[in-house]
Amino acid sequence: MVSERPLPRDGPDRAYAPLVGVLALQGDFAEHEAALRGLGLRTRQVRTAGELVGLHGLVLPGGESTTMLKLLDTEGLWQPLGHTLRSGLPVLATCAGMILLAEKVENPPQRSYGLLPITVVRNGYGRQFHSGTFALSSTSLPAGTTGTFIRAPRITHVGDGCEVLARRGDDAVLVRKGPMLAACFHPELEADHPVCAHFATAVRNHAACQPTAPPT
Ligand code: GLN
Repeated sequence: MVSERPLPRDGPDRAYAPLVGVLALQGDFAEHEAALRGLGLRTRQVRTAGELVGLHGLVLPGGESTTMLKLLDTEGLWQPLGHTLRSGLPVLATCAGMILLAEKVENPPQRSYGLLPITVVRNGYGRQFHSGTFALSSTSLPAGTTGTFIRAPRITHVGDGCEVLARRGDDAVLVRKGPMLAACFHPELEADHPVCAHFATAVRNHAACQPTAPPT
């Protein structure tokens, strides 16, 4: 008899799914986990350096970048996280996460990893009152894709080697450099957002190339 039931999402098959670390010091890490698990990936909340080992992808979620910076120092994670970010695994950074990766941060200036050649202005679209869901224009995303912006950073400069994948009006809001994908908005808050699916595909491809690749 052929079962037509879908494979259980938390069943044994999940044991072989690629593993994505989600920085869980602060912010909307739980929403990222839910989105990735819905796409069939395993997730691990990352709060210590040891939890960075053995990952096939990494998410820097939205939240408050100043608080994240403080907690990264308190937990001794600044350096180990930087090492992992430079190691070539797929990274999805949203909002505050994107601020952590930017080369230059304004309003006010603050420390960052400087791995993405972009300048970002914190809260560049105004404060909570101006938050909302807006249309995106993109040749990489399906027509009609939207982005939810919450006290979002505004990208005011995109440097060499950084590809713009989506815009809100004239502004770049989704950028990619190598394995790093960064969004001013929150794809994890919208069901089946193509940005999460795109990241999940990158994670699967990366995992398949690892010596410890799970059996398929
Ligand atoms: N305003 C926050 C910051 O500057 C980012 C907001 C968000 O992640 N949704 O850190």
